[in-house]
Amino acid sequence: MIPAQKSPIWHPFTQHALHDQMTRIVRGEGAYFYTADDRRIIDAISSWWVVTHGHCHPHIVRAIQNQAEQLNQIIFAGHTHDPAEDVAAQLLKLAPRGLEYVFFSDSGSTSVEVALKMALGYWHNIGVPRTRIIVMQHSYHGDTVGTMSVGARGVFNKAYEPLLFDVASIPFPAAGHEQATLDALEAACKTQTAAAFIVEPLILGAGGMQMYPPSVLKEMKRICEAHDVLFIADEVMTGWGRTGTLFACEQADVTPDIACYSKGLTGGSLPLAVTLCRAEIYDAHYSSDRSRTFFHSSSYTANPVACAAARANLELWQHGAGERVASVATMQERLIAPFRADARFENVRRTGTITALDLKASDAGYLAGIGPKLQAFFARRNLLLRPLGNTIYVMPPYCVTEADLVEIYAAIADAADELA
Ligand SMILES: *Cc1c(COP(=O)(O)O)cnc(C)c1O
Repeated sequence: MIPAQKSPIWHPFTQHALHDQMTRIVRGEGAYFYTADDRRIIDAISSWWVVTHGHCHPHIVRAIQNQAEQLNQIIFAGHTHDPAEDVAAQLLKLAPRGLEYVFFSDSGSTSVEVALKMALGYWHNIGVPRTRIIVMQHSYHGDTVGTMSVGARGVFNKAYEPLLFDVASIPFPAAGHEQATLDALEAACKTQTAAAFIVEPLILGAGGMQMYPPSVLKEMKRICEAHDVLFIADEVMTGWGRTGTLFACEQADVTPDIACYSKGLTGGSLPLAVTLCRAEIYDAHYSSDRSRTFFHSSSYTANPVACAAARANLELWQHGAGERVASVATMQERLIAPFRADARFENVRRTGTITALDLKASDAGYLAGIGPKLQAFFARRNLLLRPLGNTIYVMPPYCVTEADLVEIYAAIADAADELA
């Protein structure tokens, strides 16, 4: 029996035996959200990387309200609607040239599942027995069984290991070791069963905000192309300005064969995801033979309200969001720079609007005590920061002010004093 005062809710990534007290939130506005006891919290991680233009952006809120009164759900097999058509057309204008079709789903994980199924369906339908997926060490692509299979193995998926399918893994291209990564990719691509390579471009998010340069991304694409291995870019986190450009692949002048976008697709207002692909992949499923259909759907595929939110987000990208991204990147660089000479930290880094730094601590690693201690320290300062082990990162909404950032970095410096 649940005691009367205890909530029956089981929260994500939460060990209730250690952390059973949830912060009750009643309102969000811009870079802040407010607790039931009226504390204002700076959202320094964009509520798990989704809120791009700020909480409750009025343009997106209005779009949601208007659409909700018109048409709030419709079966998407055999039917379509303007919000989805507009989003798809606009996305193809903004995404790397060569991506031609858009498949809707509801989360980053499902967009990756769709990408994997598209890749395997492609090889299956053209009659080539390629089924093996190549992945990069430390990657994160979601928490469903398929996406866990292509992500880093460890404590997060130990219990499900027997269900995970076999993949080929290449090392992360750490500075100075890029060639080893490229050689491993080349070797993996040469095997006859190599179907696709899936990668987070420029930054591995959940794997610890590990960064690598566009030149490596470009070279990885070249190798895949040379061996006819499909290149899947998981831009679920890196998309929507995070790396300084709308999509990370732009910086390497790479057009993936398949691309996944979600998190910032609706500006962080409603769940929605897309998987974009090249014509060859669509064409391999295009047939009067029904058995070649792309057999994937979710009940809420291309939900009209979520699509209206995405359309409003795309409008914001046509009206100054790029300039705000540039300005956040500049402020972030100015504030992270002094930490490069700070002996309490190492691997001080930035790509676009994201900064990260590792607190030197004896108990590093995700399950170590330092992460939750840091998080609790920041919470006491009314900041939402959620370190990955000893890696502290700042990924703010683009409406964040310089004063907010100054407060965030002051707290990081103080945390090192208190906890290192
Ligand atoms: C968050 C994330 C996902 C999963 O997205 P969900 O919406 O949480 O399912 C997949 N890939 C990457 C790179 C992510 O950062």
